[in-house]
Amino acid sequence: MHEMSIAIAALEIMEQAALKHSARRILAVWIEVDASACVEPEAIAACFEVVCAGGIAQGCALHLEQSPIRARCLDCGHEFDLGPGLELPCPLCAGRGLRLEGGRGMVVNRMEIEE
Ligand SMILES: [Zn+2]
Repeated sequence: MHEMSIAIAALEIMEQAALKHSARRILAVWIEVDASACVEPEAIAACFEVVCAGGIAQGCALHLEQSPIRARCLDCGHEFDLGPGLELPCPLCAGRGLRLEGGRGMVVNRMEIEE
């Protein structure tokens, strides 16, 4: 997943939600991106500003969070949260055979609208 596609996908979700609530403007949005997407928050913010320009979400405040993803070590079975940059070995046995339990991709958690 890349920054621009995340920004576009987020805006689509926001616009649909705004339509449902007959919002005139979107004031703020809280978006969670899982750490496995390896994205730069600053880059998402920049792309987001571009895709929102001229639309209902123009100038809205973007609150971006990176959620950790669960990983399980194939050597010892230890489960732990994996942060950004998936190079970490298992903290218990330093094994590098990790199975990712799957992140949630991009999620729009909440938004603030003007009706
Ligand atoms: Zn291990």
